[in-house]
Amino acid sequence: KIACNLATLKMKSKVFKFGGASTKNAEGVRNLSEIVKKYSNHNLIVVISAMGKNTNALEEVWKMFLVKNRQKAKELFTEIVNDHYSLVLELFGEQMPKELDLQLKRFADYVFEVLEMGFVQKPGYYYDQIVSVGELFSSAIVSAYLNKVDVINRFLDVRKLIKTDYSFQEAKVDWPRTVEQVKSEIEPLITNTSSSVFVTQGFIAGADQLSTTTLGREGSDYSAAILAYALDAECVSVWKDVAGLLNADPRYFPYAKKIKHISYKEAIELAYYGASVIHPKTVQPLQNKSIPLYVKSFLSPESSGTLIDSNTQDDGKTASYIVRFNQRLISLASKDFSFVVEENLSDIFKHFAEAGIRINIMQNSAINFSVSVDEVSVDLEALILRLQEKYQVKYNSNLSLLTIRHYTNDLIGELTQNKEIILEQRTRNTVRFLLRD
Ligand code: ASP
Ligand code: MG
Repeated sequence: KIACNLATLKMKSKVFKFGGASTKNAEGVRNLSEIVKKYSNHNLIVVISAMGKNTNALEEVWKMFLVKNRQKAKELFTEIVNDHYSLVLELFGEQMPKELDLQLKRFADYVFEVLEMGFVQKPGYYYDQIVSVGELFSSAIVSAYLNKVDVINRFLDVRKLIKTDYSFQEAKVDWPRTVEQVKSEIEPLITNTSSSVFVTQGFIAGADQLSTTTLGREGSDYSAAILAYALDAECVSVWKDVAGLLNADPRYFPYAKKIKHISYKEAIELAYYGASVIHPKTVQPLQNKSIPLYVKSFLSPESSGTLIDSNTQDDGKTASYIVRFNQRLISLASKDFSFVVEENLSDIFKHFAEAGIRINIMQNSAINFSVSVDEVSVDLEALILRLQEKYQVKYNSNLSLLTIRHYTNDLIGELTQNKEIILEQRTRNTVRFLLRD
């Protein structure tokens, strides 16, 4: 099981996605090229995100633009452009391809133009025009470097392929248009006689010729899934700096181990409980067409990684545990000790939904309704004030919410040891505890 089977039909494409960690420096780009080279006898669509932390850096440019500090915005952006040119110098020496230079200049010039624009659109519009350049830069550099090392490939502007509406920063995919575009732009380039490698961008998309959109932070996995769906790809491989999906966060649990195989359904469950697996949005298009998803290590490309597909047989084999820290438990009771009934519940839910606050766990009794939410900003305080108009409100801060999928009693004992259990919920596959240290 080396990222998608080697023995396969020629026609189908594989989609590979490389995140920022894999291209953060010249060594990363060289390593990526080695991996792509190994598979270049297949049709490959290589999806690249912005290098390293460039998306964050570009967000700072946008923020400066928003507060009308154009000078600072241009300064910060110039630094980003220079960083990319330093990388190019490291990768190509003095022989930077003319094409690449022109391409980078064109992308950079557009951002400089945006930074001069008057303020007539919503902030999100400028975000997408500015921040999207991270993916354009990285994919152009990777494409040129692959050509240099004889992995001949074609650079594709994904804004012509993935079409969306105008909800900037979190654009919604127009599926029929996207499928049509992908089929008409890519399929004619794929022949039966030789393999083709394409390099394109994650995270970004296009509403129309003039408006770039983005799909939400960490959206490149989703881009890979969209392209795979539209192409009826054979599989998607997401290349990361970890061995695959792990059953716990290794920052807190040093014994975290790799999950070899889980179903789409299980991956969505884990993401829901807070595992930083793969965004649920990514899974859906793949599940629709039963396209397997591999999570692989770019540091150890021969290792098997994790396979996510429709087969649920192995789901229970590894217990996974997820902790959400900084929880606040809010308990509501009716002021006159009457039952908290459906009418109150729908009113309570409405308040949370309107405040955009996600409920992580809830529990109710006759006169009580309790929810735990992430301890966040001012919104939470405003919400509590509103709830206090109708209900008695009590709360408990600094809790953590532990979820164990496919639990064992030993594991529960170990993970809740020396902690006070404030709330507990158990189903056949999942147990959840709200804990105080
Ligand atoms: N570069 C974008 C981000 O950092 C998209 C991605 O990495 O998936 O959010
Ligand atoms: Mg990124």
